[in-house]
Amino acid sequence: MNTQVGKLFVISGSSGVGKGTLLKELLLQHPDLNLSTSATTRHPRPGEIDGVNYFFVKKEDFLNSVKNEEFLEWTEFNGNYYGTKEAYVKKTLSKGENLILEIETKGALQIKSKLPDAILIFILPPSLEELEHRLRGRNTEDEESIQNRLNEAKREIECSKNYDYRVVNDDLKKALKELEEIINKNLNK
Ligand code: 5GP
Repeated sequence: MNTQVGKLFVISGSSGVGKGTLLKELLLQHPDLNLSTSATTRHPRPGEIDGVNYFFVKKEDFLNSVKNEEFLEWTEFNGNYYGTKEAYVKKTLSKGENLILEIETKGALQIKSKLPDAILIFILPPSLEELEHRLRGRNTEDEESIQNRLNEAKREIECSKNYDYRVVNDDLKKALKELEEIINKNLNK
């Protein structure tokens, strides 16, 4: 899209891979990056705030937005819907502001086909065993959800071969440095 002024970064990674921590650090050091807030039908986890972590919406409202074509991308993940509002993305980019979407792979590939200039970055776990260990350590999911997330992780890692960049998060500092280098390189293009 030629009207795209700000840079759009799409960051994905299996749940438990440490994306949240990496993104938090990245945003602290980069006030020139905005993080998009998605809509979801998932229930808030303890500590999550509506309008900050997500817009927590009813399934009926989400499906209405789908019908009204308000989403740039949306998907069903682990039994819940997640989506990014098109108006917000277009408005932010057209103001010349840079934006990060933290979304899963199906949504990321929808974005790439609609906005080919988007930069796709995938955060990989050091191994699947380590990912399982981290997921269990979070203590936020039941066994079924952990198994679903592990199966999703395998599918997503396969899918990440279509991304522009892949960063392995075995050491937070190292991964953050790599991520920043990718961001800086593309911001200065
Ligand atoms: P969680 O329930 O752990 O917050 O998120 C589950 C997955 O949904 C994560 O991989 C996250 O990146 C993804 N996700 C969050 N928001 C969106 C969105 O707007 N669109 C898509 N496609 N995925 C999203």
